[in-house]
Amino acid sequence: MDSIGEIEARALQELSAASSKEEIKELGVIYLGRKGKLTQFLRNISSLPPEEKPEAGKKANILKKRLEKEFKAAVERMEAEEIQYADHIDVSLPGRPVPIGTLHPLTQILREICSIFQKLGFDIAEGPEVESDYYNFEALNIPKNHPARDMQDTFYISENIVLRTHTSPIQIRIMEKRTPPVRIVAPGKVYRCDSDITHTPMFHQVEGLLVDKKITFGDLKGILTAFVQQMFDEQISLRFRPSFFPFTEPSAEVDILCVMCRGKGCRICSQTGWLEVLGSGMVHPAVFENVGYDTSKYTGFAFGMGVERITMLKFGIDDIRKFFENDYRFLRQF
Ligand SMILES: [Zn+2]
Repeated sequence: MDSIGEIEARALQELSAASSKEEIKELGVIYLGRKGKLTQFLRNISSLPPEEKPEAGKKANILKKRLEKEFKAAVERMEAEEIQYADHIDVSLPGRPVPIGTLHPLTQILREICSIFQKLGFDIAEGPEVESDYYNFEALNIPKNHPARDMQDTFYISENIVLRTHTSPIQIRIMEKRTPPVRIVAPGKVYRCDSDITHTPMFHQVEGLLVDKKITFGDLKGILTAFVQQMFDEQISLRFRPSFFPFTEPSAEVDILCVMCRGKGCRICSQTGWLEVLGSGMVHPAVFENVGYDTSKYTGFAFGMGVERITMLKFGIDDIRKFFENDYRFLRQF
């Protein structure tokens, strides 16, 4: 049999958890009803040793009175609350506003990038995030054991399946299906084994490709200059710096004048006055051969950029990890 102390503790605990009049009435039956726990206790007092009977009877009767009082008071409190609320419903009040969410800063910038290129006549293309070694590397002129594979810390699913390390495989998939002219941008998630203040294992890129007759490096400069000026500032200076990518030749990195210090040199631009925003170049003939394009007839250019990088520069964010921590205080600022 439960002791009187146990019955008291449990009854009061259940009463404080009760949230409706019905629940309280039910508790009344469980503890004080004809077969209730306290009623049973009182009934069993006669079987206790004689010296314990008076004390047990006294305690049980005190608890009985207390519970009756507490249950009644709780029911009354709830009834009073109901009346209070009923009196206070004012149907003429305006509705309570529901807070409206905003797009994640990366989504905003991704859409802005795509929309600028759409205005320049590019279509949007997409491809799989789990990619074969062929599309991610080989078709892009990065054979097995090529030193350029060291530039990309790859997540391998199996020997020939990877999480794509860049959005460039979409170029190959599109060129296999279409004959020129091709004019696409391909946004998407990419994956690399890397994590620090400027790298996350998953991030976003936008890839671009334009192939047609008589496309020159001048076209590449024109399109990318138009993009950078619409993205950052009509007046911003940019420069093309020679670089290397296995799938373009010649290749160039695109820098813009530092948006923070305007070229004077600061922490963000590592005192150089310039910020790297894009990789680009003329499509390598080996890539065209892999997709069956006639290199005597067609030329083209490709470019790629990190969406996180552009967003950080645009909003002055200094830690890439903030994008993925889901901290509402950070996200609501955009
Ligand atoms: Zn700077």
